[in-house]
Amino acid sequence: MIFDRFAEGLESLEKTSGRIDLAKGLAILLSELSPDETAKALYMVQGQLMPPFAGEPMGMAGSLLLRAIARALESLNAPLPEVDLKKRLAAIGDPGLLAESLLPPGKRPLVSLAAVYDRLLGISRLSGTGSQDDKILHLSRLLADIAPLSARFVCRFVMGRLRLGVGDATILDALVQTTVSSKGEESAMKAERKRVREELEGAYNLCSDLGRVGAVLREEGLDGIRKIAPMVGYPVRMALCERLGSGEEIIEKIGRAAVESKYDGFRCQIHCGPTGTRLFSRNLEETTSMFPEIARAASELFAGRSAIFEGEALGYDGENDSYHPFQVTITRKRKHNILEKSSEIPLKCLVFDILYLDGVSLMDRPFQERRKILEGLFPVRVRGIADRELPPEGVFGASRLIVTEDPHEVDLFFDEVVEEGFEGVIAKRLDGVYAAGSRNFNWIKLKRSYKSALSDTVDLALIGYYRGKGLRTKLGIGAVLGAVYDAGRGEFQSVARIGSGLTEEGWRDLRGLLEELRTDGPPPGVVSGLVPDFWVRPELVVSVLADELTRSPTHRAGRREGEEEGFALRFPRMVSGPRADKRAEDATTADELRRLYEIQRQRLSGKGEEGG
Ligand code: ATP
Repeated sequence: MIFDRFAEGLESLEKTSGRIDLAKGLAILLSELSPDETAKALYMVQGQLMPPFAGEPMGMAGSLLLRAIARALESLNAPLPEVDLKKRLAAIGDPGLLAESLLPPGKRPLVSLAAVYDRLLGISRLSGTGSQDDKILHLSRLLADIAPLSARFVCRFVMGRLRLGVGDATILDALVQTTVSSKGEESAMKAERKRVREELEGAYNLCSDLGRVGAVLREEGLDGIRKIAPMVGYPVRMALCERLGSGEEIIEKIGRAAVESKYDGFRCQIHCGPTGTRLFSRNLEETTSMFPEIARAASELFAGRSAIFEGEALGYDGENDSYHPFQVTITRKRKHNILEKSSEIPLKCLVFDILYLDGVSLMDRPFQERRKILEGLFPVRVRGIADRELPPEGVFGASRLIVTEDPHEVDLFFDEVVEEGFEGVIAKRLDGVYAAGSRNFNWIKLKRSYKSALSDTVDLALIGYYRGKGLRTKLGIGAVLGAVYDAGRGEFQSVARIGSGLTEEGWRDLRGLLEELRTDGPPPGVVSGLVPDFWVRPELVVSVLADELTRSPTHRAGRREGEEEGFALRFPRMVSGPRADKRAEDATTADELRRLYEIQRQRLSGKGEEGG
């Protein structure tokens, strides 16, 4: 296709609004292209020269472009001083329209779409001394060779301002239209379009390259699309999580599940193969050079083999054999001083999935099977609820998980990891495939919900505390044990283990105060089903917000004669440090707790009626 015809197509897309019409217009344009041109055109309508993960941004500065336009005008015997150009640009605002209005119409050589693409790619790859002048020269020649309308789009393109509103979904819709005939019975065609759309999207999810999908479709049809498989060097679009609010909801939804710590760092999809190792981020940008220790370790581990696997990279705190919080880990996201920073904050990578190994895709295998393979490749340092999350000795380790069908165990694991300073947990369906590019219930994240059924805070007397683990090791405190007061019995009854809500400084201060109150064994009048690492005299009171009050066999709060269960707070977090205005006996009472439970029950059933 001649580029000028392509530019006409772009102009009509520019005038189109609405995704359906955009897809129709694009389908018409695509149907005139060869397979090779299809890939190039698809990159270009998205303002790129390559798929986004290949990182070939043009983003030329406006001043360079103006100089190129000035030079093109000169070569076409229509010179205009740069100052005038600047004034006109200030009035028009768009360098594309400026070039179009100034370049004289008239006969030009016929330049193909592929040639313009190749010339732009050549310009984008010029680097080093003198490259700016070369860029101006080559761009000015290109502008002089194409029609004014074409120049409009080339100028916008090189500045990264070609905004046609054509997204991934529109391209997929357009590709469907180039394949499915529009003649036939409407319902059959609709079903066919849906089927083809799914196939194309599936292929796109595997290679993240719409240009490739378009070219293969054009050349080999759907048979070719079905052959697209994960390939080292092409990021797989990442599987995402749904969310649910409790262990109970999770188990109800997916049954027996693997539940993993949810690490808060950088997601890395790591590709190893004969051409080397490459890392990709959650947004499919290449991050290989940013995280050299991960790339090196992966190359060593998979020397002579090929693999695609995923993990979360976390900053490692060697002093405490623990991880850094996200605010520290994020300082590794940088383009300069990478080596210095990597020795200051080295990374560990907790591997949670493997998608491909030695030429074989594992994506359709059940999670359990992929996990088994993963555990054969990466060391498992910790398992289960009671173990603290010990970082792997080398760069890589398998993520920590439990396998359970007991909702209570999910919640316990959740409490444990939150107490260690992690974000929450991710539950995975044991027979789930790796669902590239989609968000479904194969993976479910459980973070603290801020939608409380229990909107009031409660004031709890602190009766004990736990040593810090994981990220909290160096603070020496990971959680506290809180109690309500039963005035009738003169007892402090445990109601929650609270591991969140304070800043690092807040935790440190609280530990200082609690240390002063330590006792050997439970102080008189303290009743608890849990045994903290340290008991303390009940003197400090903190305000706590929770999502819900539940019945619990573990906690003793509000338990009446003959009852098996007390009350417990779900997802508790402190909203204040110790309150100077309250004594331990001023804490929320066991009776108040019962009343709160009743209010919550009524609110929840009231909500149910409204909703129903
Ligand atoms: P979204 O999924 O809505 O885009 P996000 O990318 O901000 O959100 P979250 O939804 O909070 O992330 O959680 C999903 C992310 O958690 C994953 O992308 C991954 O980076 C990270 N993660 C941490 N631990 C795990 C794990 N064990 N398994 C899978 N992902 C994990």
